[in-house]
Amino acid sequence: VPKKLMSYGAHFADWLRLASNYGWELGAARHDFAKLLRNRNDEIARLNGIYIGMLEKAGVRLIAGRARIVGRSGDGFVVEVGGERIAATRVALAVGAQPSAPVIPGVELAVSSDQLLEDVYELPRRLAVIGAGYIGLEQSSIFLGLGVETHLLLRRQLPLHGFDDDLRHGLKTALERRGMNFRCEMEIQAIERTEGALRVVTSTGAVEVDQVLLATGRRPMPNTRGIGLEELGVRMDDAGAVLVDRDYASNVPGLHALGDCSDHAFGCEGGTAAEELGLGSGEFDLTPVAVAEGRALAERLFNDPTARVNYHAIPTAVFSIPQAASVGLAEARARRLGHDVQVFMTTFRPLLYTMPDDGGARGEDRTTMKLVVDRETDKVLGCHMVGDDAAEIVQALAVALTCGATKAQFDDTMALHPTSAEEFVTLYQPVA
Ligand SMILES: Cc1cc2nc3c(=O)[nH]c(=O)nc-3n(C[C@H](O)[C@H](O)[C@H](O)COP(=O)(O)OP(=O)(O)OC[C@H]3O[C@@H](n4cnc5c(N)ncnc54)[C@H](O)[C@@H]3O)c2cc1C
Repeated sequence: VPKKLMSYGAHFADWLRLASNYGWELGAARHDFAKLLRNRNDEIARLNGIYIGMLEKAGVRLIAGRARIVGRSGDGFVVEVGGERIAATRVALAVGAQPSAPVIPGVELAVSSDQLLEDVYELPRRLAVIGAGYIGLEQSSIFLGLGVETHLLLRRQLPLHGFDDDLRHGLKTALERRGMNFRCEMEIQAIERTEGALRVVTSTGAVEVDQVLLATGRRPMPNTRGIGLEELGVRMDDAGAVLVDRDYASNVPGLHALGDCSDHAFGCEGGTAAEELGLGSGEFDLTPVAVAEGRALAERLFNDPTARVNYHAIPTAVFSIPQAASVGLAEARARRLGHDVQVFMTTFRPLLYTMPDDGGARGEDRTTMKLVVDRETDKVLGCHMVGDDAAEIVQALAVALTCGATKAQFDDTMALHPTSAEEFVTLYQPVA
């Protein structure tokens, strides 16, 4: 939520530029960055208050503090938190993940996304973002939109490893047009303090900036360390994710793990969503997945033992500017899983940008939409989009994919004109 609010804040720069094409005369615009941060923090505090209120209303007793399992109590556990010891038959771990940092000299000079989304700070003049996963792209887009000279440093040729290649290409092109400085296929070697600035040294040269953001992934370690799990013999993977079965149960009876700190039940036997989808457990680290797992665990233990999380059509968005969003399989992944794939794709200029341009507007922005279809069954395997409102549109398409929609059913769906989304139901000719 905090980054979405920041993204809205940055997006206004585009909307203000566009306004003159529609006859608005607004005068010189000025942005108050400190106000954006203050208002964002106030809104997050308000939301946190609502969640805490909901828990209290439901009868949950909240104890603030870092919890640790300090021993056994019969078949159960003794948990210590906030100076109290609590005996529990079952424990559900939901300790989340933490940003992971590369081991390089000067890494302490960089900040993490957690800091940028919680602290109040000055807008830097120049920013380097290391890592081009969704967090790196979102953060770099926000700062670019706010007028910061932004450098995105990545190991690969394209951002968003794991997403569909056409989406990756489309987003990179759009960001380059907006002035993002990509430095691809490099390794970070060091961060150095120079006079009044920071220098990021890479295998392909150095870049001088005022702030460096690390967006190099997240892992459950160290949250799952030092809280009594090793002493109990809980099985974890190399990143510290607790291995669980379909009941989110670890190898220690009564101890469950959910959300980012777990491997999302992929360590379990008997065929898994991860194997079928060819995904790694980190690709499931999303808020609605954690929420669904919490709900499923409560249902399975205390109400309906058949309750299951459906991992098959998890929509995911990158709140960059422009947005990118996907549900289902990327083309390359579908081919790797053995599908005979048909691809339908279009790239176009959305209506909003077609008005005669006074100059400075983003008239050249293009939207890309792509469907990956299984030729044999006609099932739509994946929907991918780069462009305005991609996240909203793909959320609705996730319903169709969850229902197992075919391309013929997409074609049968009446278009809603004039929208960008209608292109998804009027893609008649395959491109590959
Ligand atoms: C910058 C950023 C942007 C993101 N954007 C999106 C997005 O747009 N959409 C999306 O779906 N997901 C997004 N995510 C991912 C999402 O935040 C996580 O997948 C989700 O929060 C996981 O929920 P969780 O409950 O497993 O862990 P968390 O939400 O991390 O919660 C874990 C909690 O446990 C607490 N804790 C840890 N150890 C202990 C302990 N020993 N005792 C007591 N408390 C403890 C932590 O302080 C934390 O409050 C984003 C993540 C980041 C970092």
